[in-house]
Amino acid sequence: MTAFDTRAVHTGQAPDPATGAVIPPLYLSTTFRMSRVGEPTAGYDYTRSGNPTRDSLQQAIAALEHARRAFTFSSGLAAEDALLRVLLEPGDAIVYGNDAYGGTFRLIDKVYRSWHVPSTAIDLTDLDGARETLAALRPRVVWAETPSNPLLNVVDIAAIAELAHGVGAVLVIDNTFASPVLQNPLDLGADAVVHSTTKYIAGHSDAVGGAVAVNGEDLIERLAFIQNSVGTGSAPFDSWLTNRGLKTLGVRVRQASATAGVLAERLRAEPAVAEVVYPGLPEHPGHAVAARQMRGFGGILSLRIRGGADAARAVVEHTELFALAVSLGAVESLIEYPYAMTHAATQGSSIEAPHDLIRLSIGLEDPDDLLSDLQQAFAAAHHPAPVAARA
Ligand SMILES: *Cc1c(COP(=O)(O)O)cnc(C)c1O
Repeated sequence: MTAFDTRAVHTGQAPDPATGAVIPPLYLSTTFRMSRVGEPTAGYDYTRSGNPTRDSLQQAIAALEHARRAFTFSSGLAAEDALLRVLLEPGDAIVYGNDAYGGTFRLIDKVYRSWHVPSTAIDLTDLDGARETLAALRPRVVWAETPSNPLLNVVDIAAIAELAHGVGAVLVIDNTFASPVLQNPLDLGADAVVHSTTKYIAGHSDAVGGAVAVNGEDLIERLAFIQNSVGTGSAPFDSWLTNRGLKTLGVRVRQASATAGVLAERLRAEPAVAEVVYPGLPEHPGHAVAARQMRGFGGILSLRIRGGADAARAVVEHTELFALAVSLGAVESLIEYPYAMTHAATQGSSIEAPHDLIRLSIGLEDPDDLLSDLQQAFAAAHHPAPVAARA
């Protein structure tokens, strides 16, 4: 197998044999002409069921995740939903991490619960606790994010895979934060990997999408069936944009991780910051596991801000370079307040985001410029201009 960066550029991207075009064309066609009844020219008949541009992307993502097959969808949540439809029947239980992405929490806790799928959120970094809960609940699905959103907790994938398999459960890893550049969960024992490709894989904040990557023959067949039956496969244009972004995934993620590492170190010295939460720092509780199972610590870091909720909100409202926006993993740096933004759906639940926490997605800007922007936001948040002067 060729190396990651080579696969990112070439897998599923053979030049067009008809014209020699180095970039395969974008196939917007919804339907494909047949010469005889029921005999498609090249295996395609209708774009909901299959499309060459979507296939290019699916092949590339499978290659990057060391998977036999990948399936792409109209969003990360559509990918999660397709996988859950494949895995669950009413009465089956889910055990998932207690700091899951807000949308994942809502899907599991609000949508699937009403289809009689009970679910329990636990701390999956506590292996003894997880062993007990899994033995008691015997779930069908164990769902983990690592590093998690927004607390960057690190789950030991190989250890949780062993526990899940011990009770007959399937282990799903949401690999959105690490991206396949830094971590390949299938190699560590996971049964399925999900991505919001909206984030690092597409990487330019201009295409919403999701993916599921698997090895098992049964999962492959059932995912193909659901993708066609439910009709949430990724659209050709979104697939094409995502594939274009994916070619630079390696350089983008390595650069963002390097900058995040530098900022994490330097932000520790800021008086406005009570704690830097970043798995690359030795004091992070998941540091050792991350160092073992990842090839870098990623481009996301969170900060606990001195002064609590008001101070945290003021900081995110005073950056200039960092855009106050949800989402992550793109070339431009973003800042947000999870409690009232990405994780608002978890408010009042046992897994709500801490009130003093802000999350930073580090882009490709210069580290010194990013640090200066944060420093001026800390100062402005501490001494806010009077309302009249600001207007
Ligand atoms: C954004 C995100 C999702 C959901 O993906 P969408 O593309 O927004 O539907 C799932 N998991 C994680 C970790 C995410 O950051």
